[in-house]
Amino acid sequence: MAVLVLGDQLTTDHGPVVDADRVVMVEARSFARRHAYHPHKLTLVFAAMRRFRDRLRADGVTVDYYEAATFGDALDDHFDAYPGDDLVVMEPPSHGAADRLRELVADRGGDLELKENELFLCSRAQWAEFADEREPPYRHEEFYRFMRRETGYLMADGDPVGGEWNYDDRNREFPGEEYDPPDPPRYEPDESTRKVWEWVTSLSGSYDTDPLGPGWADPEPFFWPVTREDALDALDAFVADRLPEFGPYQDAMLGDEWAMNHALLSGAMNVGLLHPTEVIEAVVAGAKTQPETPLASVEGFVRQVLGWREFMRHTYREAMPELATANQLGATEPLPDFYWTGDTEMACLADAVDGVRKRGYGHHIERLMVLSNFALLYGVEPVELNEWFHAAYVDAYHWVTTPNVVEMGSFGAGVFATKPYAASANYVNRMSDHCFDCVYYHTKASGEGACPFNALYWEFLDRNEEQLRETGRMGLVYSHLDDKRGEELEAISDRANEVRKRAKELEL
Ligand SMILES: Cc1cc2nc3c(=O)[nH]c(=O)nc-3n(C[C@H](O)[C@H](O)[C@H](O)COP(=O)(O)OP(=O)(O)OC[C@H]3O[C@@H](n4cnc5c(N)ncnc54)[C@H](O)[C@@H]3O)c2cc1C
Ligand code: SF4
Repeated sequence: MAVLVLGDQLTTDHGPVVDADRVVMVEARSFARRHAYHPHKLTLVFAAMRRFRDRLRADGVTVDYYEAATFGDALDDHFDAYPGDDLVVMEPPSHGAADRLRELVADRGGDLELKENELFLCSRAQWAEFADEREPPYRHEEFYRFMRRETGYLMADGDPVGGEWNYDDRNREFPGEEYDPPDPPRYEPDESTRKVWEWVTSLSGSYDTDPLGPGWADPEPFFWPVTREDALDALDAFVADRLPEFGPYQDAMLGDEWAMNHALLSGAMNVGLLHPTEVIEAVVAGAKTQPETPLASVEGFVRQVLGWREFMRHTYREAMPELATANQLGATEPLPDFYWTGDTEMACLADAVDGVRKRGYGHHIERLMVLSNFALLYGVEPVELNEWFHAAYVDAYHWVTTPNVVEMGSFGAGVFATKPYAASANYVNRMSDHCFDCVYYHTKASGEGACPFNALYWEFLDRNEEQLRETGRMGLVYSHLDDKRGEELEAISDRANEVRKRAKELEL
């Protein structure tokens, strides 16, 4: 029996690979053309696979590594060499992938055994224990507390360390424009990574002529970790340099600081180079040796990895396949072109898209409160927005992008979100330095020069009143909307129409 190691399972410490003496890996070139993937994403995945193969071989494991046009072509080659071979693999987290794999193998006379995916912290059985006692919609906070109790992280004698479960209210500070966080490490590509980079960048046609190519991006030289050693170094660097201020500035955006104090570890975690357990344990242990680290930083980080990441994975499992196309607000607008080109005068959006074009990265608040907030207010169809996020980010995989974009960002299904993450310019102004440099007025909702977020925000509430007014947590904002009815709302609506027209004419 051979172990099939998929490109997002690059670990030697978990799953059937631990005892393997023969491993099969497939580098399917068709993957690169499935979405308009960012060159950093493609390089990260293919380079990490090749380095992982080399590491296994150095450890004495036989690795049959197939470079082929498609996964099926690679399996043809494999079963020609090993007729009737039995394969074992950890279950891929994206919906339908396990069935497709099983079919591909069976069509070639082989057998595929699926094992639980050990790259997550919460097993299927643990999730079932949590979910069986509850009705959907599931609540993240309840799941997070359940996982704290299950794992014992940040617990003392059955109670949360510090007395509270959640210190989110201490994680919303704005540091001021002069703030200068430590630079994150960059990893110099070796010869093998450079070869992948050359191939990937050779795919780049222009955005107009090749919409499924990576030519829309404007990539910096590649710098993400692609080996276990570099991923561990990135984790150490985060804990040593950026963890103490991760918490307070978790939601802040500064135009000159693309990374702020974020971990930049999702790309490595999502391909298996780092396990969430070791990430959490490094953070908890690191905080003990750095007394200046506030509990809010440690708890804030643990909540993201132990709570949100695992919650997304399991709610996705439960809500698929419907979640992929969910659109309860009936949003139908196409994604404005400036999500690809960055060509907009809106300072916050231009900066967020610029970061994505350069590095395939933006931190959570840029993703949620700028990019998906604007798309939500504008009425972009969630499927199209999901497609963009999936192509654009180094850490994007269907299992994690879909619940974040379709549910959290677009309020597509109501499987866990209790209300939409919709905000006017007030939020961006409070948490960033962008409005200061913007041609639009963050205080205006109508008339020439008014911030597009403001007009679209009120128009969004008005347009979706029937569904949202009664959701319980929206009463206050609707009372503000009621105060605007009449001439004020008409002027806002005119401005929203103008914003849409300009977005389509690429003049926003
Ligand atoms: C619209 C939208 C799209 C997103 N798309 C993705 C995606 O494709 N892939 C992805 O990994 N994350 C996605 N996220 C979640 C989150 O924004 C990223 O995980 C995070 O920004 C990664 O950067 P970081 O490693 O510096 O994270 P940090 O801010 O330092 O957070 C630490 C870790 O927590 C985990 N985490 C935090 N929030 C989430 C979450 N909501 N879902 C899953 N993991 C979380 C990640 O593993 C992350 O590495 C998305 C969020 C939104 C709102
Ligand atoms: S004024 Fe509006 S568009 Fe400009 S940066 Fe602020 S929120 Fe963004």
